[in-house]
Amino acid sequence: MTILDLAIWFSLLGLLLTLYLMWFTWYCWPALLHKSHCAWCWQSLHLMQWYPRRWSSTICKRHDRRLRAQSAERRARRLAGTQLPGEVRA
Ligand SMILES: [Zn+2]
Repeated sequence: MTILDLAIWFSLLGLLLTLYLMWFTWYCWPALLHKSHCAWCWQSLHLMQWYPRRWSSTICKRHDRRLRAQSAERRARRLAGTQLPGEVRA
């Protein structure tokens, strides 16, 4: 293996790593930020006391689906006329 082969190999490796980091930043970073900034995830992990105050509260897809399902269930119960034990009818 000559010096030229090593130079070509390392330049290809550097190019591939650069492309991979660009792909990761473009596609995965917003999803990771969304997940890491979800206040409900922090609360479910009992880490709410360390949730940074400067972060705006966002919600991940999993907790968004769960909260929407809970509110739909509450709405359906309200329309059906039954009440949850702690719920006060306005
Ligand atoms: Zn979450």
